[in-house]
Amino acid sequence: MQQTSKPSLIDIRHDGHIHTFLCNHAIGNMEDYVQAAIQKGLARMSFLEHLESGIVYFKRNWLEDSHFAEYFREGERLKKAYQGQIAIELGAETGYNPDAVQGLRAKLNQYPFERLGLSCHYYWHGSQHWNLLSLHQDSLDYFVRLGPDKVLADYLKHLTRAVGELDCTVLCHLDAGLRHLPGLRFQDSHREQVLHLLEAAKARGMKLEINTSGFDRRGYPYPAEWIVREALKMGIPLTAGSDAHSPQEVGRHFAQLPSWLAALQA
Ligand SMILES: [Zn+2]
Ligand SMILES: [Zn+2]
Repeated sequence: MQQTSKPSLIDIRHDGHIHTFLCNHAIGNMEDYVQAAIQKGLARMSFLEHLESGIVYFKRNWLEDSHFAEYFREGERLKKAYQGQIAIELGAETGYNPDAVQGLRAKLNQYPFERLGLSCHYYWHGSQHWNLLSLHQDSLDYFVRLGPDKVLADYLKHLTRAVGELDCTVLCHLDAGLRHLPGLRFQDSHREQVLHLLEAAKARGMKLEINTSGFDRRGYPYPAEWIVREALKMGIPLTAGSDAHSPQEVGRHFAQLPSWLAALQA
Protein backbone atom coordinates (compact mmCIF):
# COMPACT_ATOMS: atom_id res chain seq x y z
CA MET A 1 0.00 0.00 0.00
CA GLN A 2 1.26 3.44 -0.81
CA GLN A 3 2.42 5.42 2.18
CA THR A 4 0.81 8.85 2.38
CA SER A 5 2.23 11.48 4.67
CA LYS A 6 0.04 12.40 7.62
CA PRO A 7 -1.73 15.69 7.15
CA SER A 8 -0.76 18.34 9.66
CA LEU A 9 -3.19 18.58 12.56
CA ILE A 10 -2.93 22.32 12.91
CA ASP A 11 -2.06 25.33 10.75
CA ILE A 12 0.56 27.28 12.68
CA ARG A 13 0.71 30.03 10.06
CA HIS A 14 -2.76 31.18 11.07
CA ASP A 15 -3.41 32.93 14.38
CA GLY A 16 -7.16 32.71 14.89
CA HIS A 17 -7.57 34.68 18.13
CA ILE A 18 -6.29 38.26 18.39
CA HIS A 19 -7.55 41.22 20.47
CA THR A 20 -6.73 44.95 20.33
CA PHE A 21 -7.03 48.04 22.56
CA LEU A 22 -10.68 48.28 21.46
CA CYS A 23 -11.71 45.75 24.15
CA ASN A 24 -10.38 48.03 26.90
CA HIS A 25 -7.99 45.47 28.42
CA ALA A 26 -5.51 44.87 25.57
CA ILE A 27 -2.83 47.20 24.23
CA GLY A 28 -1.92 48.13 20.66
CA ASN A 29 -4.01 49.15 17.68
CA MET A 30 -5.06 46.86 14.84
CA GLU A 31 -2.19 47.82 12.59
CA ASP A 32 0.35 47.05 15.34
CA TYR A 33 -1.02 43.49 15.41
CA VAL A 34 -0.95 43.16 11.61
CA GLN A 35 2.69 44.20 11.52
CA ALA A 36 3.54 41.83 14.37
CA ALA A 37 1.83 38.96 12.53
CA ILE A 38 3.77 39.69 9.33
CA GLN A 39 7.02 39.81 11.28
CA LYS A 40 6.19 36.41 12.79
CA GLY A 41 5.74 35.01 9.26
CA LEU A 42 2.03 34.31 9.57
CA ALA A 43 -0.03 33.88 6.39
CA ARG A 44 -3.37 34.63 8.03
CA MET A 45 -4.67 36.34 11.15
CA SER A 46 -8.10 36.63 12.70
CA PHE A 47 -9.07 39.45 14.99
CA LEU A 48 -11.50 37.99 17.50
CA GLU A 49 -12.78 40.91 19.50
CA HIS A 50 -14.85 40.48 22.64
CA LEU A 51 -18.61 40.64 22.05
CA GLU A 52 -20.96 40.45 25.04
CA SER A 53 -24.60 41.22 25.74
CA GLY A 54 -26.36 42.01 29.01
CA ILE A 55 -23.30 41.77 31.23
CA VAL A 56 -23.43 43.69 34.51
CA TYR A 57 -19.81 44.34 35.45
CA PHE A 58 -17.89 47.29 36.87
CA LYS A 59 -15.69 47.61 33.77
CA ARG A 60 -16.23 47.41 30.01
CA ASN A 61 -14.19 44.44 28.75
CA TRP A 62 -15.79 44.21 25.31
CA LEU A 63 -16.69 46.29 22.25
CA GLU A 64 -19.85 48.37 22.01
CA ASP A 65 -21.41 49.52 18.73
CA SER A 66 -19.14 52.55 18.33
CA HIS A 67 -16.05 50.36 18.78
CA PHE A 68 -17.33 47.79 16.28
CA ALA A 69 -17.88 50.59 13.76
CA GLU A 70 -14.25 51.61 14.17
CA TYR A 71 -13.17 47.96 14.08
CA PHE A 72 -14.75 47.27 10.69
CA ARG A 73 -13.68 50.60 9.21
CA GLU A 74 -10.05 50.14 10.19
CA GLY A 75 -10.13 46.39 9.49
CA GLU A 76 -11.29 46.90 5.90
CA ARG A 77 -8.58 49.53 5.38
CA LEU A 78 -5.91 47.15 6.70
CA LYS A 79 -7.11 44.27 4.52
CA LYS A 80 -6.45 46.39 1.44
CA ALA A 81 -3.25 47.99 2.72
CA TYR A 82 -1.66 44.60 3.51
CA GLN A 83 -3.15 42.59 0.65
CA GLY A 84 -0.60 40.07 -0.61
CA GLN A 85 1.32 40.18 2.68
CA ILE A 86 -1.23 38.66 5.02
CA ALA A 87 -4.89 37.63 4.96
CA ILE A 88 -6.91 39.41 7.64
CA GLU A 89 -10.23 38.21 9.07
CA LEU A 90 -12.56 40.29 11.22
CA GLY A 91 -14.26 38.12 13.81
CA ALA A 92 -15.64 38.11 17.31
CA GLU A 93 -15.18 36.10 20.48
CA THR A 94 -18.79 35.68 21.52
CA GLY A 95 -19.25 35.56 25.27
CA TYR A 96 -22.23 33.43 26.14
CA ASN A 97 -24.82 34.85 28.51
CA PRO A 98 -27.76 32.48 29.06
CA ASP A 99 -29.96 35.47 29.92
CA ALA A 100 -29.20 37.41 26.75
CA VAL A 101 -29.34 34.91 23.91
CA GLN A 102 -31.61 37.12 21.79
CA GLY A 103 -29.31 40.10 22.36
CA LEU A 104 -26.30 38.04 21.33
CA ARG A 105 -28.02 36.73 18.21
CA ALA A 106 -28.99 40.26 17.24
CA LYS A 107 -25.39 41.45 17.52
CA LEU A 108 -24.08 38.46 15.58
CA ASN A 109 -26.54 39.27 12.80
CA GLN A 110 -25.74 42.98 12.91
CA TYR A 111 -22.12 42.68 11.76
CA PRO A 112 -20.40 40.83 8.89
CA PHE A 113 -18.16 38.70 11.10
CA GLU A 114 -15.87 36.32 9.25
CA ARG A 115 -15.07 34.10 12.23
CA LEU A 116 -17.02 33.49 15.41
CA GLY A 117 -15.37 32.12 18.51
CA LEU A 118 -17.40 30.97 21.48
CA SER A 119 -16.44 31.53 25.10
CA CYS A 120 -18.14 32.14 28.42
CA HIS A 121 -16.44 34.73 30.60
CA TYR A 122 -19.12 35.74 33.10
CA TYR A 123 -21.20 34.09 35.79
CA TRP A 124 -24.32 35.70 37.18
CA HIS A 125 -24.79 35.55 40.92
CA GLY A 126 -26.42 37.91 43.38
CA SER A 127 -26.96 41.16 41.54
CA GLN A 128 -23.98 41.19 39.16
CA HIS A 129 -21.77 39.12 36.90
CA TRP A 130 -18.50 37.64 38.15
CA ASN A 131 -15.57 37.15 35.80
CA LEU A 132 -14.72 33.44 35.55
CA LEU A 133 -11.27 34.24 34.16
CA SER A 134 -10.37 36.91 36.70
CA LEU A 135 -7.18 36.92 38.69
CA HIS A 136 -8.64 39.19 41.36
CA GLN A 137 -8.74 37.77 44.85
CA ASP A 138 -12.25 39.05 45.62
CA SER A 139 -13.61 37.14 42.57
CA LEU A 140 -11.70 34.01 43.52
CA ASP A 141 -12.91 34.24 47.13
CA TYR A 142 -16.46 34.64 45.88
CA PHE A 143 -16.23 31.52 43.70
CA VAL A 144 -14.78 29.56 46.64
CA ARG A 145 -17.81 30.57 48.73
CA LEU A 146 -20.18 29.55 45.91
CA GLY A 147 -18.44 26.19 45.53
CA PRO A 148 -16.03 25.76 42.62
CA ASP A 149 -17.45 22.35 41.62
CA LYS A 150 -20.87 23.87 41.09
CA VAL A 151 -19.52 26.93 39.27
CA LEU A 152 -17.39 24.76 36.98
CA ALA A 153 -20.38 22.51 36.27
CA ASP A 154 -22.48 25.58 35.39
CA TYR A 155 -19.69 26.96 33.20
CA LEU A 156 -19.56 23.72 31.17
CA LYS A 157 -23.35 23.54 31.05
CA HIS A 158 -23.51 27.10 29.71
CA LEU A 159 -20.90 26.44 27.05
CA THR A 160 -22.79 23.36 25.91
CA ARG A 161 -26.02 25.31 25.70
CA ALA A 162 -24.21 28.06 23.83
CA VAL A 163 -22.99 25.60 21.19
CA GLY A 164 -26.62 24.68 20.51
CA GLU A 165 -28.05 28.20 20.67
CA LEU A 166 -25.46 30.30 18.84
CA ASP A 167 -24.04 29.74 15.40
CA CYS A 168 -20.32 29.93 16.20
CA THR A 169 -17.49 28.16 14.42
CA VAL A 170 -14.70 27.85 17.01
CA LEU A 171 -14.87 26.66 20.61
CA CYS A 172 -12.33 28.83 22.45
CA HIS A 173 -10.11 28.01 25.50
CA LEU A 174 -12.57 25.31 26.63
CA ASP A 175 -11.18 24.67 30.12
CA ALA A 176 -10.19 28.24 31.02
CA GLY A 177 -13.13 28.79 33.38
CA LEU A 178 -11.88 29.35 36.96
CA ARG A 179 -8.34 28.93 35.60
CA HIS A 180 -6.84 31.10 38.36
CA LEU A 181 -8.47 29.21 41.21
CA PRO A 182 -5.69 27.30 43.00
CA GLY A 183 -6.21 23.54 43.19
CA LEU A 184 -9.22 23.46 40.84
CA ARG A 185 -9.85 19.85 39.78
CA PHE A 186 -12.09 18.34 37.18
CA GLN A 187 -14.33 15.73 38.83
CA ASP A 188 -15.63 12.72 36.88
CA SER A 189 -18.92 14.55 36.37
CA HIS A 190 -17.06 17.51 34.81
CA ARG A 191 -15.25 15.13 32.49
CA GLU A 192 -18.60 13.72 31.40
CA GLN A 193 -19.76 17.26 30.72
CA VAL A 194 -16.66 17.97 28.62
CA LEU A 195 -17.32 14.88 26.47
CA HIS A 196 -20.89 16.01 26.01
CA LEU A 197 -19.70 19.50 25.07
CA LEU A 198 -17.26 18.09 22.51
CA GLU A 199 -20.02 15.96 21.01
CA ALA A 200 -22.22 19.05 20.70
CA ALA A 201 -19.39 20.99 19.05
CA LYS A 202 -18.73 18.11 16.66
CA ALA A 203 -22.43 17.94 15.72
CA ARG A 204 -22.32 21.69 15.01
CA GLY A 205 -19.24 21.31 12.79
CA MET A 206 -17.16 23.52 15.09
CA LYS A 207 -13.39 23.58 15.46
CA LEU A 208 -11.61 23.32 18.79
CA GLU A 209 -9.20 26.11 19.57
CA ILE A 210 -5.75 25.27 20.89
CA ASN A 211 -5.12 28.45 22.85
CA THR A 212 -1.41 29.03 23.37
CA SER A 213 -1.84 31.61 26.14
CA GLY A 214 -1.87 28.50 28.32
CA PHE A 215 1.86 27.96 27.70
CA ASP A 216 2.52 31.23 29.56
CA ARG A 217 -0.07 30.67 32.26
CA ARG A 218 0.35 26.98 33.05
CA GLY A 219 3.02 25.49 30.78
CA TYR A 220 0.67 23.89 28.24
CA PRO A 221 -2.18 25.18 26.09
CA TYR A 222 -5.91 25.30 26.68
CA PRO A 223 -7.58 22.89 26.72
CA ALA A 224 -5.76 20.13 28.62
CA GLU A 225 -4.20 17.23 26.75
CA TRP A 226 -6.90 14.71 27.64
CA ILE A 227 -9.54 16.98 26.12
CA VAL A 228 -7.57 17.43 22.89
CA ARG A 229 -7.09 13.65 22.68
CA GLU A 230 -10.85 13.14 22.97
CA ALA A 231 -11.48 15.81 20.35
CA LEU A 232 -9.05 14.14 17.95
CA LYS A 233 -10.73 10.77 18.51
CA MET A 234 -14.03 12.41 17.55
CA GLY A 235 -12.46 13.95 14.44
CA ILE A 236 -12.92 17.55 15.58
CA PRO A 237 -10.57 19.86 13.63
CA LEU A 238 -8.13 22.02 15.59
CA THR A 239 -7.25 25.68 15.12
CA ALA A 240 -4.50 27.71 16.79
CA GLY A 241 -5.09 30.94 18.69
CA SER A 242 -2.67 33.07 20.71
CA ASP A 243 -5.37 35.12 22.50
CA ALA A 244 -2.94 38.03 22.03
CA HIS A 245 -3.70 41.07 24.16
CA SER A 246 -0.47 42.79 23.11
CA PRO A 247 1.21 42.73 19.67
CA GLN A 248 4.23 40.71 20.81
CA GLU A 249 1.89 37.88 21.84
CA VAL A 250 0.71 37.23 18.26
CA GLY A 251 1.54 33.64 17.30
CA ARG A 252 3.03 32.97 20.73
CA HIS A 253 4.45 29.45 21.16
CA PHE A 254 3.00 28.29 17.82
CA ALA A 255 6.31 26.62 16.92
CA GLN A 256 5.79 24.27 19.89
CA LEU A 257 2.39 23.06 18.73
CA PRO A 258 3.37 20.35 16.20
CA SER A 259 5.62 18.52 18.67
CA TRP A 260 3.13 19.04 21.52
CA LEU A 261 0.41 17.45 19.39
CA ALA A 262 2.67 14.65 18.19
CA ALA A 263 3.57 13.81 21.81
CA LEU A 264 -0.03 13.59 22.95
CA GLN A 265 -0.86 11.26 20.07
CA ALA A 266 2.04 8.93 20.84
ZN1 LIG B 1 -9.63 39.56 26.60
ZN1 LIG C 1 -9.83 36.06 23.85
